[in-house]
Amino acid sequence: MGGQVPSKLTEKFDPHRLVMRGTQAYQPRCIALEGSVGVTTRCSIHPQRPSICREVLPSWESGEPYPQCDKARIAHGLSPLAPEDWIRFKDANASAA
Ligand code: SF4
Repeated sequence: MGGQVPSKLTEKFDPHRLVMRGTQAYQPRCIALEGSVGVTTRCSIHPQRPSICREVLPSWESGEPYPQCDKARIAHGLSPLAPEDWIRFKDANASAA
């Protein structure tokens, strides 16, 4: 899937491909990312996010690690997700409901 990304949020990567604005910067930050990394963030176009973003899954959400997720978190000074994080997340959501 893909191709639903608002064009104003993209820029040319090469003659045939687009990337999200901000991702080619020296210190990349996607224009669609809202919030503060390490505190609270969200993708402001989650249902319309590019196919490449759909391929990166959060480690352990579905029971297995994803090295690309771990690598991205480490690059931002965060520890990789662990199975316990999802237990805490589900417990917190259950308490909030
Ligand atoms: S998931 Fe959303 S915020 Fe993250 S890189 Fe993709 S489009 Fe940007």
